[in-house]
Amino acid sequence: MTATILDGKATGIALRAIVAEDVKSLIASGGPTPCLVAVLVGEDPASQVYVRNKHRACQQAGIAGDVRRLPAETSQAELLAVVDELNKDEAVHGILVQLPLPPSIDARAVLDSIDPAKDVDAFSPVNVGLLVQGRPRFLPCTPRGIVELLSRYGLKSSGKNVVVIGRSDIVGKPIAMMMAAADGCCGPDYANATVTIAHSRTKDLASIVRMADIVIAAVGKAKMIHGDWIKPGAVVIDVGINRVGEELVGDVDFESASRVASAITPVPGGVGPLTIAMLLRNTVTAASARPRSSV
Ligand code: NAP
Repeated sequence: MTATILDGKATGIALRAIVAEDVKSLIASGGPTPCLVAVLVGEDPASQVYVRNKHRACQQAGIAGDVRRLPAETSQAELLAVVDELNKDEAVHGILVQLPLPPSIDARAVLDSIDPAKDVDAFSPVNVGLLVQGRPRFLPCTPRGIVELLSRYGLKSSGKNVVVIGRSDIVGKPIAMMMAAADGCCGPDYANATVTIAHSRTKDLASIVRMADIVIAAVGKAKMIHGDWIKPGAVVIDVGINRVGEELVGDVDFESASRVASAITPVPGGVGPLTIAMLLRNTVTAASARPRSSV
């Protein structure tokens, strides 16, 4: 079998075009120009690239954006003061604090301080709680991108066995919750799965993965999942981004897995481009939810 390559790049471009249309409609109907502010502390090169890409994507979609660059020596109190100022600024609809933060700062305390109505990464306990209860305000960006990709390719999850490898707050837990929910952003066909969450203490991971109709790998270990772990015809979503020398590779050994799977995401060009598209989507959702002024 030769797997269909799930093209996240093309899907991301299409989704961003839809967001750009939604921005135009929102403004035409008297709504605000959505505005996302990213806060970047320190000089981490990867974070600089991520923030630059997010800022550029905002501009292309007609979303106003700003980047607050703070020195690496910024104290937690100073960072909390910046978040507080952005929380109070009515022109700002979305706030993104780029991770990782310097070790001297308690990242959880900073993320918790973001107004849940502006928490476009959907990391706050309020937004996580709403997701768990099946009434999300924002969906976390990478998991939502995965569901949108499945939907674009008509790869339904309802009634299927989904194995999620990894239980992070950013990817593993929320995508497991979204797959197991009765309904979701792309309708009940792209939810309603029977979900297994695997992690570093899971015994005999290969045989668990072999039961999956859809495998979602979010581990952060280069090429850990081999083709002989994959059930013939399964769908493989590889969230991992691992640098090996000059190359970026996923958590799945693409070469062997793509000979067994029916569909698979490449790395790069799979899940990655969808994350930014969903961040823009959440910013527009935040701006649309803001009460309009009566003048
Ligand atoms: P994370 O917070 O480091 O979590 C990794 C998870 O993998 C943990 O739950 C860990 O289990 C589990 N794990 C580690 N070793 C394992 C093993 N040998 N067998 C089974 N499970 C194992 O990672 P993350 O933030 O979810 O990110 C995962 C990967 O996705 C990374 O490569 C990251 O760069 C990438 N990523 C990509 C995007 C995107 O936009 N494409 C977005 C976010 C992340 P324990 O809980 O037991 O430690």
